[in-house]
Amino acid sequence: MLPEEAWRAAVSGLPVLRGLSKEEMERLRELATLLLNEKQVVAAGGFSLDDNTRIKIAAQACLPILNLGLDYYAGWVSVIVYPGEFMPEHEFMDEAGVVHVVHGPVMGESWERGPVILSGADAVRCGGHDSTNVVIHEFAHKLDILNGAMNGFPPLHREMSSERWAQSFTAAFADFCAKVEMGIEMVLDPYGAESPAEFFAVTSEAFFETPRTLQQEYPDVYRQLAAFYRQDPARRAAEIGFGKTGLHLMPPR
Ligand SMILES: [Zn+2]
Repeated sequence: MLPEEAWRAAVSGLPVLRGLSKEEMERLRELATLLLNEKQVVAAGGFSLDDNTRIKIAAQACLPILNLGLDYYAGWVSVIVYPGEFMPEHEFMDEAGVVHVVHGPVMGESWERGPVILSGADAVRCGGHDSTNVVIHEFAHKLDILNGAMNGFPPLHREMSSERWAQSFTAAFADFCAKVEMGIEMVLDPYGAESPAEFFAVTSEAFFETPRTLQQEYPDVYRQLAAFYRQDPARRAAEIGFGKTGLHLMPPR
């Protein structure tokens, strides 16, 4: 088990975990311990990766799987951490067979059957219960890939309906893309308009970071994510008075 003192020091800087019960925090600590044992979390680009950063990454990575289990991160081994944003040096082919050259720099990447790559600075900076979260974003891609293509459709639980999932996400994605196109500023990261896969990753970030805003903006998507992650962060946030919904849609600039 991760040592008490180091664990406490790391999670005290992560408001996104507030509202979890004592029992849930213990389970999170167990999962984070297992994750750090199972995966190789390694530094790249001259980064000096300390325990605090490793634990912060593991704690945030395990939040989405708190009620799912570590098996959801099976099939790959490494988390590579750069000091800051990094330049991806590869091309990838999308589902339509189109080759994309990635123009960096980026905060994170998630490779199919490969590593999660993170900017250490951004991984430590997130978790504020108020904004985007690169750790949750990249690990959400890992959940999406579990059943094949990265397409915004992770393996649903038996009691869930694929049709309802598809309807909820398709409608929200269309609405979101239209708003991004119109230049309407939103709490949700506009990067989500890139593809259904990115929309799933971005709404997953919001589900944990700004749950009440997501619930207000896209209630159906919130419900589907709550069923998938088996958590209700909006209720947690309401209980501790976090992230009160306010004016989140601003006029176009
Ligand atoms: Zn992404």
